Amino acid sequence: MLKRILGRTGLEVSVIGFGGIPIQRISREESEKLIVEAYKNGINFIDTARGYSVSEDYIGTALENNNLRSMMILATKSPAKDYASMKKEVETSLEMLRTDYIDLYQFHNVRNMDQLNVIMGDDGAYKALEEAKANGKIGHIGITCHSADVLMEALKMDEFETIQFPYNYIENQGEPVFEQAAKQNVGIICMKPIAGGAIEKGELSIQYILDNPNITVAIPGMDCIDQVVRNAAVGNDLKPVTAEGLELLENIKKELGDHFCRRCGYCLPCPQGIDIPTLFSFEGYYLRYNMSEWPQGRYDNLQKHASDCIECGLCESKCPYNLPIRDMLKHVKETFGQ
Ligand code: SF4
Ligand code: SF4
Repeated sequence: MLKRILGRTGLEVSVIGFGGIPIQRISREESEKLIVEAYKNGINFIDTARGYSVSEDYIGTALENNNLRSMMILATKSPAKDYASMKKEVETSLEMLRTDYIDLYQFHNVRNMDQLNVIMGDDGAYKALEEAKANGKIGHIGITCHSADVLMEALKMDEFETIQFPYNYIENQGEPVFEQAAKQNVGIICMKPIAGGAIEKGELSIQYILDNPNITVAIPGMDCIDQVVRNAAVGNDLKPVTAEGLELLENIKKELGDHFCRRCGYCLPCPQGIDIPTLFSFEGYYLRYNMSEWPQGRYDNLQKHASDCIECGLCESKCPYNLPIRDMLKHVKETFGQ
C-alpha cells in the first residue's frame, strides 16, 4: 500500500483510510471482519467520530480482539466546542475505542467563524485537546469542516496539524485550501471521496483524488469486504486516471451536478432557520448509503425541517451551483416525512 506523510504529524498513513460512518448499519461481528480485512489489505488509518453512534465502539472491539491497536493510526472527532465537554468527549472516545491513546483528535464539522472562535477561546475545546496532548492521551489535533472559507481562516491560526474536507470530482471547491494547507505542512484527509456514494465508479473517484499530490489520505466509508478489497487495491497499485476515466467522471458530474449539494453553506442563513446543507446531507445518507435509522433520527431531532420552507427563494439566489433548492427540499420532505 502506498503511504504518505500526514503533514506535520509525521504519521505515515496508507493513502486509503477506513471511513467509519457506514459500519453503523452492520453488526459488531461484521465490522470486526472488515477492520481485520482492511489491515490485511494494507490500510493503517481509521477515521471515526463520537457522532457515528456505535462506530467507535465497534472499532474499539475489533482492534482489541485482534491485537491491532498498535498497527493502526486512529483518528476520531467530536463536535464539542467548550473545554469541559471536549475533556469528557476525549475520555469517552478512549473508553469506546479501548485504548489509552488516540493518534489524531479532530474538531468535528466546524461550521462558521463563531464556532471556531468559541473553540479557540479561553474556555474553548482547543484547550482541552492541548491538555490531552500534553498528558499523552492524544497525539495530534485536527479540524474537519465543510466550508472552504472557514477552513482557510482556521489555517491562518496555524494551530491544526490536519484538516479534513470533502473532495471528489464533483466537489473540488477545497483545492485552494489544500494548496495552502500543503504549504503549511498540514496533513490533508479527504472525506466524501465518492461524494457520499453518489459517484458509482468508486475506485475511479478515489484514483482521481489521489492523483492530487496535496491529498494525504482518502477515507471512503466501507461496510462490506468487497468494498474494502476494491478500495485498498487502488492504493496498492496507484495509477494516474486515464483520459477515458476523466471523461467518465465528467459525465457523472454532468448527470449529478444539477442536483448535488456541495455543502458550501452559501445559501445560509435561511429566514426560517432551515439548515439546508445538513438536510441534503442526511438525505444522501438515507438514500445513497442505504441507511435509514441513523439519518432519520438525526433529521427528526433537527429544530427545522424541509416542511418549514416557505419557498421564499432567498437560498436559491445565493447558491453558486444554481441548485433548485426548493424542489430538492420537497424531495427531502418526502424522504423523511416532514
Ligand atoms: S426557500 Fe425555503 S429554504 Fe430557501 S431560504 Fe426560503 S424558506 Fe429557507
Ligand atoms: S444548496 Fe447550494 S449554496 Fe447551499 S450548501 Fe448546497 S451547494 Fe452550497
